[in-house]
Amino acid sequence: MEIYLDANATTPVLALARAAAQAVMADTYGNPSSVHGSGLKARAVLDGARAAARRVLGAPSGRLLFTSGATEGIQTAALSVLRALRDRRDAGQPIATQLLYGATEHKAVPEALKHWNAVLGLGLEVLAIPVGQDGRHDLDWLRAHVADAAMVCTMAANNETGVISDLDGIAAVLAGSEALWLVDGVQALGKLQLRLLERRIDYAPFSGHKLYAPKGIGLLYVREGAPFTPLAAGGGQEDGQRAGTENMAGIAALGAVLQALEGTEVFAPLARLLSHRERLVAALGEAFPGLVFNAPLETSLPTTLNFSVPGLPSKVLLNLFDAAGIRVSGGSACGAARAQPSDVLQAMGLPAWQTESAVRLSFGAADGTALIDAACARLRACGEALRAAPVAGARAWQPAAPAETGEEACVDMAAATLQQLLDGGQPPLLVDVREAYEQALQPAALAAQAAPLSGLDDALAGWRALPAERTVVFLCRSGQRAAQAARALRAQGHARAFSLAGGLALWPVQAGAPVASTATA
Ligand code: PLP
Repeated sequence: MEIYLDANATTPVLALARAAAQAVMADTYGNPSSVHGSGLKARAVLDGARAAARRVLGAPSGRLLFTSGATEGIQTAALSVLRALRDRRDAGQPIATQLLYGATEHKAVPEALKHWNAVLGLGLEVLAIPVGQDGRHDLDWLRAHVADAAMVCTMAANNETGVISDLDGIAAVLAGSEALWLVDGVQALGKLQLRLLERRIDYAPFSGHKLYAPKGIGLLYVREGAPFTPLAAGGGQEDGQRAGTENMAGIAALGAVLQALEGTEVFAPLARLLSHRERLVAALGEAFPGLVFNAPLETSLPTTLNFSVPGLPSKVLLNLFDAAGIRVSGGSACGAARAQPSDVLQAMGLPAWQTESAVRLSFGAADGTALIDAACARLRACGEALRAAPVAGARAWQPAAPAETGEEACVDMAAATLQQLLDGGQPPLLVDVREAYEQALQPAALAAQAAPLSGLDDALAGWRALPAERTVVFLCRSGQRAAQAARALRAQGHARAFSLAGGLALWPVQAGAPVASTATA
């Protein structure tokens, strides 16, 4: 069973949300702009979802529009503020000169500010509000800059660390200032009370797929009286605030989730989330003695744990967890492909070893006790596997000398091609380059020789004697380490060295799966 603990990246879609989406696709499929019966039924679903959002967000007034997600909401807010500034500047009125964002904001915020600042030709200064080691905004710095600020962007809770911002403290600093305030509420929704109206927040974007609704649906709240410019013009949908026929399946699903948030059956109360966290903290501590948390638990969401283990780079830990069927991540999902140390942890000033070893474990507010029980047991099993087969050299293995210059040769072999070789009576030599503790937790689905990448230099010598026509296919979790091994063997003169494209994660070949690679054997 897969244990999914990466809720801050995205969540599965709840059954009640799937049912609501299915109902509007199959039954209430009218266009909510149509005035006939089918349209009116769809309109009722739309209005019901919006009303639930207003109740849950504490936003009885102001604009509340459905968007494609938080990134779109952030663009709309940035465009709205900057366009109003440009109009004032063009009318000869004085405008503030700075756009401020928290140093640990999601990339969508600073990138949107810079983008619209450039597109509208405003040339304002875009500055990061520093954060302390606890991940919270430096309010003294903010106080010193607020007089020059046209816009201030501070997330409610951080996606990588779970750190909860001091929104009341920020509101106090902003009181009396003309700066417009954006609060990214993506990670807070369902876990914290945002009290948008009471705190005089001007803009608040939200995302459905972080809260058990599908991807491609979100919300933007805009305080009554705050500047607003639609991002898209067209058929006048959403009262002219966001053109384009509404994503009714997404809206219905999000509406169902928001309604569930008002009850107590689906989403756990704070006390239960805290007890889940306590148990995970205990299991992690037992599995990995010396582990440190990268943000203070008392000022973080109960559902997010960001930690580092001395001597174990994130990559090693992620491979270990993945082999145990536990899905966690090294930081934000958008940054995962870059595999760089986290900007968020660096902004907090954490030591390099902590930023290079960081792992984020996040569960959702609808996850039950059974999942947490299973997660704790698996985490302990990870610790045992590591003690039984310790990491040989904590650093990831690198070839002794770069095999090639310029673009790296593609060594991928499509899973379908490997299947053909296996079926054709000339099976290749299969080599599993995952570390011993990964192989112990999750034996490969293919009979393969074990040669962990950390000891590859010794193993390479043995394969040099292979006949030139013998095909060697390396296996690992995602295909990356296997590709390193295949390139190293090619550099030693054996041309028929490949890696299983997509790794063991995609094996056996799924029926109907698109072919991921064009390389042939
Ligand atoms: N803000 C935060 C804090 C996030 O975690 C995310 C998602 O990663 C976003 C914004 C972007 O949301 P979306 O995927 O809906 O565009």
